Amino acid sequence: MAESALEAPGKKDDIMEKIPVAILAATGSVGQRFVQLLDNHPWFEVVALTGSDRSIGQEYGESCHWILPEAMPAWAARLEVKPTLPEAVGSVPLVFSALPASIARDAEPLFARAGAAVCSNASAYRREPDVPILLPEVNADHAGIVPLQRQRRGWTGCIVTNPNCTSTGLTVVLKALQARFGLRKVFAVSLQALSGAGYPGVPSLDIIDNVIPYISDEEGKMEWETRKMLGKFNGSQLELASFIVSAHTNRVAVTDGHTVCFSVELEESASPEEAQRALLDYQPPEISRGLPSTPNPVIVVRSEPDRPQPRLDRNTGKGMTTVVGRLRADPLFDLKMVVLSHNTVRGAAGGAIYNGELLTSMELLAK
Ligand code: NAP
Repeated sequence: MAESALEAPGKKDDIMEKIPVAILAATGSVGQRFVQLLDNHPWFEVVALTGSDRSIGQEYGESCHWILPEAMPAWAARLEVKPTLPEAVGSVPLVFSALPASIARDAEPLFARAGAAVCSNASAYRREPDVPILLPEVNADHAGIVPLQRQRRGWTGCIVTNPNCTSTGLTVVLKALQARFGLRKVFAVSLQALSGAGYPGVPSLDIIDNVIPYISDEEGKMEWETRKMLGKFNGSQLELASFIVSAHTNRVAVTDGHTVCFSVELEESASPEEAQRALLDYQPPEISRGLPSTPNPVIVVRSEPDRPQPRLDRNTGKGMTTVVGRLRADPLFDLKMVVLSHNTVRGAAGGAIYNGELLTSMELLAK
């Protein structure tokens, strides 16, 4: 991708007609967030929703057990749930996927082959060398691999992913530190919300009055996806960053909002004050500024000794802002701090919509 494409944001204020989009697996925890966040979206209009055999053929309002505090939009309630197939959904240039990874593996390429840009939450394609894991405020340039992906796979559409929801806030903060000081080592412990386990998720008798110190596959995702996102796109490949991450992941009795407590060793030491300055000064790449879902601000640093807290801080910046607190010197490494990110908004549906806006802005949707 030409440098100039990154420097000149293609703002879509001039979009007259909204772009028709579909949501795959619209009835689950993330699917419902897509429906809620795409209600009155300035660029996109939802024209199709899909689900499993359990829901196909029913109206969305009937089949979906709605769990969000915001009301289900009336247009969504009336839509019939379709099978997850391009011919059932119809021709759309952009598809948001909340499919389970096992289903996404076969289903998402069908849409990419049919010409849709698939913005996926699933982990199925995150480790593919030609599939970017995107956070537009961090690594928008990685979307430059999309034309190569199309060429290699013979698709007119594409697949891009967002990271696992626990890596999201951590990676935004690490990016700001990496840009100023470089990174060597990260030691991270997560406290992850229940909505991250989908609906109905963890049984209440397992989680009330409890912490579960195991989330299947999650530690490996945090340790690897951060390095892919903070690595380089060299024009033909996505190179992993060389720092090391060690992660422990835990499920806690919080509805929404993943907390990560972490310590970091930098290439160039920094005081907490210098690190705070780097976080507050951090600016997303030019192409990602001014998109409808761009977090404003990208990072908030709380000064109170007992923040961030999920219940109080997860909706900062409409759930798209990364909130940091307890920034202090670390006796093992250089710095330690706490980061909070809304897992179904910035970490899932909101993140995939932001990726869809980035692809639109970079003119990467099939014509
Ligand atoms: P969930 O609440 O369990 O929902 C699963 C969804 O998948 C439902 O809409 C279900 O439809 C649909 N589905 C199941 N089998 C299907 C099939 N054969 N064909 C089509 N649709 C099928 O899960 P979730 O939390 O929304 O997670 C969805 C994806 O996002 C997963 O890949 C997950 O790893 C990823 N993710 C989740 C989060 C989070 O915070 N929750 C964050 C990042 C990424 P029916 O209701 O019709 O059965």
